[in-house]
Amino acid sequence: MFKIGFIGLGIMGKPMAKNLLKAGYELTVFDINNEAVREVTASGAKEGKSSADVAAQSDLIITMLPNSPEVEQVVLGNNGVLATARPGTILVDMSSIAPLVSRKLSDKLAGKGIIMLDAPVSGGEPKAIEGTLAIMVGGPEEAFNRVKDVLSAMGSSVKLVGDIGSGNVTKLANQIIVALNIAAMSEAMVLATKAGVDPEKVYQAIRGGLAGSTVLDAKMPLVLNGNFKPGFRIELHIKDLMNVLDTADEIDSPVMLTEKVLEIMKSLRDEGKAKDDHGGLIQYYEKLAKIQVRKKQ
Ligand code: NAD
Repeated sequence: MFKIGFIGLGIMGKPMAKNLLKAGYELTVFDINNEAVREVTASGAKEGKSSADVAAQSDLIITMLPNSPEVEQVVLGNNGVLATARPGTILVDMSSIAPLVSRKLSDKLAGKGIIMLDAPVSGGEPKAIEGTLAIMVGGPEEAFNRVKDVLSAMGSSVKLVGDIGSGNVTKLANQIIVALNIAAMSEAMVLATKAGVDPEKVYQAIRGGLAGSTVLDAKMPLVLNGNFKPGFRIELHIKDLMNVLDTADEIDSPVMLTEKVLEIMKSLRDEGKAKDDHGGLIQYYEKLAKIQVRKKQ
């Protein structure tokens, strides 16, 4: 059984690490936030002093960090994973980062005999807690087969999609679809409310038809209650859509709708809503329309 190191215990990493403990894995954890570390050690994990210390004690290392710069720092930086990880170690980066950075890190790690998989997730905090995330993996099949059981302790769908970087390409596709769905829901529900129809009734009437979606069912109940507590923060979705634009630019692929939704998210960030849930995108439309999409009292 793998000795697992887990680095990054935020909204997602914390419940994912706890699910690995529940499944019986031995875990050493690290985060720059001591409180998060305390919470996971209280559930049975061992505390690592740094990323290097975690790597020295593990044969499988999982990272769940905000974005490319943090993953580069944890892997290549001072007191990072590369300094102490042994040849044969597998690193599974489950953060959503730029596919090019996954490929670059994988090359550097390969120089020391360390194998990397990129394995971003979809599902958000509720599915991280339930252990039912969708996990999209890029990297060598042999390494994937060795870690599949570990990933299955955190997710109900674990799919290998291609070489290193493919997991993050898949995640970018996922993030385009989610962002555009939230924008479509916002535009439609503000229109319906302003036209004088109860948005809760509109939601109930359309959710079983072609316009119904996982996004609609996850976000509409929160919107109706004016609850924009994250969840998935607008600032993280901005990060993902910026990675979409960079990738699209490199390969010359059209992303005009993504560009538009990114502008809306940036405008909300500049109004101080960066830490709202991405379902809070509707507030942009609500402000323009001077109306709120809420449950009737
Ligand atoms: P988060 O900001 O809540 O957690 C990130 C954690 O990393 C924090 O605890 C932070 O202290 C830690 N960290 C940052 N730099 C570090 C360093 N140098 N060394 C050690 N620890 C460090 O973010 P999150 O919501 O858990 O998201 C993590 C990743 O998962 C992101 O890439 C995000 O896009 C992706 N994701 C999030 C959700 C969601 O709903 N929150 C859903 C799917 C995917």
